[in-house]
Amino acid sequence: MSIRIKDFGINLKTVYCPKCNTEQPKIRKPKGWKEILWGGNTCKNCGCKMDKYGKERK
Ligand SMILES: [Zn+2]
Repeated sequence: MSIRIKDFGINLKTVYCPKCNTEQPKIRKPKGWKEILWGGNTCKNCGCKMDKYGKERK
């Protein structure tokens, strides 16, 4: 049995927007309950939604 820790942890690396490469702030206000639950950012520059690792979320 193994626990996928990275799904629950906090990404401490700087995240960049996958679309416009804007650096995302580490401290953020979650935009909704999904961001509260899963972490992640909404890019201020282009509005792209991404997870806490900077992967685009569809
Ligand atoms: Zn962006």
